[in-house]
Amino acid sequence: MDYEVIKKPESKEIKPAPNLGDYEKARREVKWVDVATDLDWFGDGKINIAYEAVDRHIHSHRKNKLAFVWEGKDGTIEKYSFYELSRASNKFANVLLTLGVEKGDRVFIFLERVPELFISALGTLKIGAIIGPLFSAFGPDAVKDRLLDSGSKVLITSPQLKSKIEDILEDLPDLERIVIVNRDGEEVELGDKGVNYEEEMTEASEDFDIVKTDKDDYAIMHYTSGTTGKPKGVVHAHEAVVGHYATSKYVLDLQENDIYWCTADPGWVTGTSYGMFGPWSNGVTQIIYEGGFNAKKWYHIIENYRVTVWYTAPTAIRMLMKFGDELPKKFDMRSLRYACSVGEPLNPEAVIWGETAIGIPFHDNWWQTETGCQMIANYPVQDIKPGSMGRPFPGIYPAILDDSYKELPPGSEGHLALKAGWPSMFRTYWNKEDMYNSRFQDGWYITGDKAKMDEDGYFWFVGRADDVINTAGHLVGPFEVESSLIEHPAVAEAGVIGKPDPIVMEVIKAFVSLKEGYTPSDELKHDIQKFVKKKLSSAAYPREIEFLDSLPKTRSGKIMRRLLKARELGLPEGDTSTLEE
Ligand code: AMP
Repeated sequence: MDYEVIKKPESKEIKPAPNLGDYEKARREVKWVDVATDLDWFGDGKINIAYEAVDRHIHSHRKNKLAFVWEGKDGTIEKYSFYELSRASNKFANVLLTLGVEKGDRVFIFLERVPELFISALGTLKIGAIIGPLFSAFGPDAVKDRLLDSGSKVLITSPQLKSKIEDILEDLPDLERIVIVNRDGEEVELGDKGVNYEEEMTEASEDFDIVKTDKDDYAIMHYTSGTTGKPKGVVHAHEAVVGHYATSKYVLDLQENDIYWCTADPGWVTGTSYGMFGPWSNGVTQIIYEGGFNAKKWYHIIENYRVTVWYTAPTAIRMLMKFGDELPKKFDMRSLRYACSVGEPLNPEAVIWGETAIGIPFHDNWWQTETGCQMIANYPVQDIKPGSMGRPFPGIYPAILDDSYKELPPGSEGHLALKAGWPSMFRTYWNKEDMYNSRFQDGWYITGDKAKMDEDGYFWFVGRADDVINTAGHLVGPFEVESSLIEHPAVAEAGVIGKPDPIVMEVIKAFVSLKEGYTPSDELKHDIQKFVKKKLSSAAYPREIEFLDSLPKTRSGKIMRRLLKARELGLPEGDTSTLEE
């Protein structure tokens, strides 16, 4: 189905005026070197993310401005001004120095979304060490793989999370110290490696000379799952903050008086690029909520803190949709002026649902752990074509390539690639230089996604390069089928795979979970098939449908088609460390 374009508002209707007033002009004229001059660079060409994000503000009118308001799962509220955040992270930098941590060492953080996570991340960057935030829901194997591979010297964790990984700690030869953040003041056995965060922080000085790192010095590591093998460590350098800053300003449209809420956990790249460095380098106040998804609570957060800009993910939006259009109407959501989404395909109905249920459409944008910041996006001053990821960020040059890495014309499906060389581009896969190099061809970074670009320069996601289904010579993107499936009134979630078939090469198989009030039956199966066949084409409807109570998802909410496929074909499931419990 073709969805109507959501026309951009008249410029004068957009209040406050967007940071990006003229997209076409910006695309023609922008140069990263010019954007970079908005940051301080210590005045001498060096750059440290923590300085650009926090410390530079304490020499400005933002000194006492709130950097964040934190709400804990239990309702506790804590507030930090930029000045307080700067001082606290200075203290932590001093703590690390006393522990013998040096520039380039890896310091991994395994904490719930508590203020100490942010303080310790900034403190680590201040001494020039590399942060590795880990999602608190990881189990021992996932933590072990990452600490071993990165050779992390220090782990920052809590008593509760430490007890979950106790058995692997002996197997980590590089791990010298474990800093325990003990917010609840529990009795803890520190052991020989243990360090008491609260005690060390009380004694540490608030003064610290931040290390002036080079733009190419490594700063951040995030592990990302590939199609094969264990997750690999994607490494970003301090210069990445130029990308975080610029995209937060022009894609998220963050402005001085905004109250911004990013729902992503810093264990994933969105939670660092856009839950720390992007908004803070723009001097913007963030809301940080420790808890997970809860429809009522989320609406309450928007109402209570007068959130103006909201960055979330398609799965969350679809989950909100499941709770219906009436729920958001019970809350005062009028503060919201802008909403964005990332991480997986945002189906057109979700974009439109934003308009009807919360009063503004969701603006989809596309990027990856490797790209470090948003690459393709919808902007306040551009029409939205629901279902499209949008247009390139000024200064970013994406293209659709064929299998020989030649550019394809508009309308063709192919490999989504980006002209290599932007500030937040990853610098390596830790200890896997060959794998890193293999991602570049003829000056292009090959993203591993398939997409197409239309005549207007909008990009449309098709699927991961290895997910596209070939059925009777027709290439079918699973996203297209899934989008269609979830338009059926009974379908809550859908994951689609290609299943080998001796005649047509692959048939489309759909795994479907149903909304409350619906029960699986053959009749329903046929109804769904008919529905999709009618909506898409006779080539693209699922020949097979299997009902599941819920679909396997990564902890960041992506449906794991790979796992569905492995289970379907009786193959090994591979690395499931990112699987949601
Ligand atoms: P990650 O590195 O975990 O952030 O995942 C990046 C991948 O998520 C991309 O390569 C895409 O496959 C998918 N992705 C991210 N954003 C979008 C989007 N807006 N639309 C479709 N897929 C997306």
